[in-house]
Amino acid sequence: MNGRLPAYVDVAIVGAGFAGLGMAIRTARRGSESFVVLERGDSVGGTWRDNRYPGVSCDVPAHVYSYSFRPPGDWDSLFADGAAIHDYLERAATDEGIRPHLHLNVDVTETRWLPDELCWAVSSTAGELRARVLVVAVGRLANPMVPDFAGVESFPGKVFHTAQWDGDAPIDGARVGVVGTGASAVQLVPELARRAGELVVFSRSAPYVVPRGDRQYSEAEREHLRVKANADQLRARLFSEADKAFAQRRGLHPAIDEIRDRALGHLHAQVSDPGLRADLTPNYEIGCKRILLSDEFFPTMTSSHVTLEPSALAEFDGSRAVAASGRSFELDTVVLATGFEAARPEFATRIVGVGGERLSEHWQAGMVSYASTAVSGYPNMFVLDGPNAALGHNSAIFMIETQIDYVLGAMDHLSAGGPIALEVMAAAEQAYTREIDERSASTVWLSGCSSWYLDPLSRRLTLLWPGTGQSFRDRNGTFDPYHYERVWAPDWVDLPVS
Ligand code: NAP
Repeated sequence: MNGRLPAYVDVAIVGAGFAGLGMAIRTARRGSESFVVLERGDSVGGTWRDNRYPGVSCDVPAHVYSYSFRPPGDWDSLFADGAAIHDYLERAATDEGIRPHLHLNVDVTETRWLPDELCWAVSSTAGELRARVLVVAVGRLANPMVPDFAGVESFPGKVFHTAQWDGDAPIDGARVGVVGTGASAVQLVPELARRAGELVVFSRSAPYVVPRGDRQYSEAEREHLRVKANADQLRARLFSEADKAFAQRRGLHPAIDEIRDRALGHLHAQVSDPGLRADLTPNYEIGCKRILLSDEFFPTMTSSHVTLEPSALAEFDGSRAVAASGRSFELDTVVLATGFEAARPEFATRIVGVGGERLSEHWQAGMVSYASTAVSGYPNMFVLDGPNAALGHNSAIFMIETQIDYVLGAMDHLSAGGPIALEVMAAAEQAYTREIDERSASTVWLSGCSSWYLDPLSRRLTLLWPGTGQSFRDRNGTFDPYHYERVWAPDWVDLPVS
């Protein structure tokens, strides 16, 4: 629903994925702040709207990968597919009355802190508004990473990213290439293999894959899980089981040995050819990159019409895709499962803080924050799912909900007749950054592999929280005003009435 943008709101939320929509729902339920949600896409859902590739699904169980504050989703299996998650978010937007606040197809072009007015000027393709609080919920998997392949313009077929699925591209009976063997690729490859005449998978680093173990819920189980208390019990169990896996990411024995054995045992059980097995054996420590879940990926790779090319796609030469090894393949369609620009979010170039500094400049050595949510020099701005707020081993939704609680705590502070601006102190940000470095020092993410969890320049861990989900909530679940400069409205600031 796209009405005119209001001139002023208490809260402007940018993005309507899990994070932005969750923030909107919790804000709407308070009923004390005016707000808008500005979304560049044509529907809510973020990554679950954009990712439409065959096989897209979530490898975190649905009962923990959903809002704890909403009625339980009526999931039909342990893991939900992408379309079901998108539907769940659409329903949440409608049921919670978010649509009148939602402005779709609106791209936020710049947000600028106005020191004279102590609020944000938010410029967008639909016009400008002022907001006292800015919530940046633009997603960490929002902008596809599309490598710049030499000769791509000479390729006569279609080349596209998994998050920009081209339903018209030749697949059935065609010669198809997939670049990458990350979480998206292992879901996509078995689906494409069922349809393609030939399939070539370019893998420059082999993934660790463990059994997925999905299963359908029986009707009796679904009935049971429609009761919120029962679903909450399952959520808590799934969450605490998953959180135990952090011991693996700390490299603790025997936890890391058990998961490594499970992954390599899965490979051995499913791939008997020694050459193929060697090409599918990772050369880095388990957990350094995301551990993948699939029962079908390895068997697919043994199919006679599927080829594993154990090197990167380097360039195109007409209709041939040329690998770093020098081998080349005649292809009709190439799918880039090459991931996202996560460590250096493009949106940071559009945010201008105190003194005119762009967030991208503040983050030139990698993303930093306080409490993974506030940034020094950017008053009344809160970033969801940004610096050190993701998890590799448990539900991202738990992290987002923790951050929403933190932001609502800050908003309580702002709305209690107290300060109208809160700016986290530089010293708090620096201390938190040191804390992150200390917590991450002994983790497997810093064991030497190259992953998008690390900043490409500083090699600091900037994407993941280096701890359990619970420890994130213990550390960052409650707004702590002592680390903030509090600014009261001087006489000359004309406070808008919302
Ligand atoms: P990704 O994990 O970043 O994987 C990208 C893949 O592309 C890697 O294998 C990478 O190799 C490879 N690559 C990049 N350029 C290449 C080239 N020129 N030649 C050959 N390979 C190349 O991306 P993703 O699979 O889209 O997943 C991104 C994130 O999305 C995941 O980590 C996860 O958080 C999320 N996701 C989640 C689910 C889920 O079920 N929850 C599903 C899909 C995605 P290197 O490893 O060598 O860099």
